[in-house]
Amino acid sequence: MANPTPKKESLIPSIMEPQKKETFGNLGPWAEPSWYSSLASPYYSESHKKLRNAIRKHVDEDIKPYMLEWEEKGEAPVEVRLKHARSGYPFADVPEPYRPKDVPGPAGIPVAELDIFHLIVMTDENSRIEGGVGTALGGGSVIGVPPIVHHGTEEQKRKWLPGLFNWETSFCLGITEPSGGSDVANIQTTAEKTKDGKHYVVNGYKKWITGMPWATHMTTAVRTGGPGAKGISVIVIPTDAKGFSHRRIPNSGQKGGGASFVEMDDVHVPVENLLGKENEGFKIIMTNFNKERFIMSVGCNRKARTCLSESWAYASKRHTFGKPLIANQIISHKLATIGRYVESHWAWLEQLAYHIQQSPLGWQDPEIAGQIALSKVHGGRILEMANREAQQIFGGAGYQKGGPGAIIEQMSRDLRMMVVGGGSEEIIADLAVRQETALAKKRGWKL
Ligand SMILES: Cc1cc2nc3c(=O)[nH]c(=O)nc-3n(C[C@H](O)[C@H](O)[C@H](O)COP(=O)(O)OP(=O)(O)OC[C@H]3O[C@@H](n4cnc5c(N)ncnc54)[C@H](O)[C@@H]3O)c2cc1C
Repeated sequence: MANPTPKKESLIPSIMEPQKKETFGNLGPWAEPSWYSSLASPYYSESHKKLRNAIRKHVDEDIKPYMLEWEEKGEAPVEVRLKHARSGYPFADVPEPYRPKDVPGPAGIPVAELDIFHLIVMTDENSRIEGGVGTALGGGSVIGVPPIVHHGTEEQKRKWLPGLFNWETSFCLGITEPSGGSDVANIQTTAEKTKDGKHYVVNGYKKWITGMPWATHMTTAVRTGGPGAKGISVIVIPTDAKGFSHRRIPNSGQKGGGASFVEMDDVHVPVENLLGKENEGFKIIMTNFNKERFIMSVGCNRKARTCLSESWAYASKRHTFGKPLIANQIISHKLATIGRYVESHWAWLEQLAYHIQQSPLGWQDPEIAGQIALSKVHGGRILEMANREAQQIFGGAGYQKGGPGAIIEQMSRDLRMMVVGGGSEEIIADLAVRQETALAKKRGWKL
């Protein structure tokens, strides 16, 4: 019998039916994390999906339509802020005993059940909010409160945390000073005890303090001892204290964040407002950074995705020289570049999250500080590149306030904060190298 003629192989692989049946959100290529609509993932459960779905709806319906208007004004309406505080979405890291009984956890999920993948979902979905509007809605408590949750006494927590849910309290974090933000061990603001030992008298300045316009308290790094890291304490300063004043700094973007200059002139603060032990504040500040940087890294990833999906849609509709922009390889190459960076960075974030979840030391695991720092550096670089390429695709419309490129234009003014804030690129890239070198040596690496 003659051999059957071999089938001629097609050079184009056939498009099979997608294996993953569920879809969610923007179905455009790489517009959402792959577990939403394309690839299987071991990390996410029904609870994560429930949270994702609820936040998506909340952001799309209650925030996005007004977002750029609030950003332009530099604040959100009071009634919206009040509703937001009681919605259960903000302050998810405040444990059950300090939450009012009638305020649910996010999407009705009890906060004790939230894991790090819930944190990824919350951060990723909320990073679709542009400008400083997230802060305009919830204040600076997202960074001002964790030191209280982790290092406050029972009495301090009972006094300060429940008020978050009706704006009776709102916290910001005061570390950076006019003389510098990178060299935290060298802060100049002093806190000296009065002779009767009942108060600290605080003198100094703080700069770029997010959420200050609405804050009732500033969680503040002060010098109580000698020079260097061993002389630093963290105290919680009421913003209505005599001698405390603040004013907004006009920045390029993030107007809704309300970053402000703070002056403290003989401000008397009760000694009961000290967090942890005197002169042991540097550790409190540093241990806060792993989570903050991870959150910022996830935020960079989502914002880069937004650049990708917005510019992809525009490139498909905009015609030049008789064809859509996307028909030009030099344009589709830009999209492919953003896609490969965003997807690989996301996989790194998920792997880090898995490690932190498995580690008995959680956020304090010694393996993660360098990796998180590097992932934030990478996230910042990806966001800068993605925003630049998106602006090119939008042309003049990417430079215009309002119109189809409004979000891309807004991001171009906001993104410096993602690269400089929470530890600037140069500082934390260096930290990553030092941390990884030390770990490698511990594992037996010999040069
Ligand atoms: C919008 C906004 C909001 C902010 N919110 C807050 C807040 O809520 N609370 C708060 O405390 N701070 C806040 N910051 C401050 C932020 O954390 C600091 O800007 C940041 O830590 C860098 O400090 P710096 O700006 O003083 O830069 P500097 O420390 O003066 O450094 C300047 C530049 O030089 C680089 N550099 C410094 N030293 C070295 C070195 N040895 N080698 C190589 N490069 C170096 C840095 O990476 C940086 O890019 C905010 C900043 C902005 C812009």
